[in-house]
Amino acid sequence: MAESLRAVKGMNDILPPESARWEWFETRVRALMARYGYANIRTPIVEPTALFVRGLGEVTDIVEKEMYSFVDSMNGDKLTLRPEATAGIVRAMVEHNALYNGPMRVWSQVALFRHERPQKGRYRQFHQIDVEALGFAGPDVDAEQILMCRALLADLGIPMAQVRLELNSLGQPAERLAHRAALVAHFESHADLLDEDARRRLHSNPLRILDTKNPAMQAMVEAAPQLMDFLGEASLAHLNGVRAVLDSVGIAYRINPRLVRGMDYYNLTVFEWITDQLGSQGTVCGGGRYDGLFEQLGGKPTPAVGWGMGVERMLLLLEAVGAEVPAIAPDVYAIVPSLNGMVAAAAACEALRAAGVSVLMHAAGREAWGSMKSQFKKADASGARYALIFGDDELAQDTVALKPLRDAAEAQRTLPLADAPSIIAELLLTGSPVQA
Ligand code: ATP
Ligand code: MG
Repeated sequence: MAESLRAVKGMNDILPPESARWEWFETRVRALMARYGYANIRTPIVEPTALFVRGLGEVTDIVEKEMYSFVDSMNGDKLTLRPEATAGIVRAMVEHNALYNGPMRVWSQVALFRHERPQKGRYRQFHQIDVEALGFAGPDVDAEQILMCRALLADLGIPMAQVRLELNSLGQPAERLAHRAALVAHFESHADLLDEDARRRLHSNPLRILDTKNPAMQAMVEAAPQLMDFLGEASLAHLNGVRAVLDSVGIAYRINPRLVRGMDYYNLTVFEWITDQLGSQGTVCGGGRYDGLFEQLGGKPTPAVGWGMGVERMLLLLEAVGAEVPAIAPDVYAIVPSLNGMVAAAAACEALRAAGVSVLMHAAGREAWGSMKSQFKKADASGARYALIFGDDELAQDTVALKPLRDAAEAQRTLPLADAPSIIAELLLTGSPVQA
């Protein structure tokens, strides 16, 4: 195939049967959001580049080197494929004055774009479940969001032993400023150890240096002064408020004073859910509070907190821990031995579908009609629970044959054609075996 007709490097096609795992995951997510009272929100994939530069911070990995930015050739607008979801959601809230009637809990499933080095669990187009509580100031909602994340992990069948929760507080701007001064002094006294990125960030954004993935800098970074020691009473009280809820419901967590996250907009609570199962792509979920972002994007001061879960990484983790993902199969495979039966079968299959039964009907090729044997093979491979056989003999008597494919204890039987939909719907509902 011509080079240019392949998918873009780091961007994946999701085909069946893999797509069924995605749908299963999405169904669980939707149900969870309903249980916690979060409403769905959808914002554009393309936003003005300035939104991310202003929102995420100029000196972040994302803005410096990971954004897909381009100039709209029609009018010269500077645009970017969204690299994260929060900035767009906050923009939408401000633009529509959507919090006029009070705070809002929203969630979204989003495709995101970052120009990173593709590897397992790290792609250039990836997907997130993104959750935001907008207009809430208290630690109760921070805790709620952490609980949601745990509930989702549990609901998906991830054993709690396979993930850990790390928690930190980034305090308030004034506290960060005091910490920053101490940090710069520390880094300056170890100037020989700083790599190029770090030297560049020393005065523009020294906190980012703590986020380095350079092993040669780890020891020096570990010894740096910790923000925790600069937090005032209110910030500590907020952190303790979150901890009190987590403790009361019995969630284990570790305070990680070096947890900083990749965007500048965070303050107070930050957290990550991490697994050892996925190597260096071990963070499956990350989030925190961003009380300053609304103002930064031209809105009224509005406290908010949110998290994002990497869908690809979650699906990889599900695979790694051997969690059961139910396969999607039709209830019924319609076997049509001859062209004669096709018209009757099409009408009957429509009635079945109207009764809520999922039906895969044998499709004729342009020339050869499939033999019974080959149709039964396809029925078996489809995973259907029943084969419904529209044979000429049966149709002559206005009947159809129902053959169980999965349960040897179930007997084959003949049904009146007109009653087949209600009988089969009932069977699938009650799961009771067909009596001969
Ligand atoms: P990392 O440190 O692994 O780069 P991050 O801090 O950049 O992650 P966030 O921006 O907080 O990640 O996004 C939240 C989640 O989205 C991550 O925990 C991860 O599960 C997922 N994620 C982030 N970047 C990618 C990517 N390039 N490909 C796949 N999933 C990703
Ligand atoms: Mg990253």
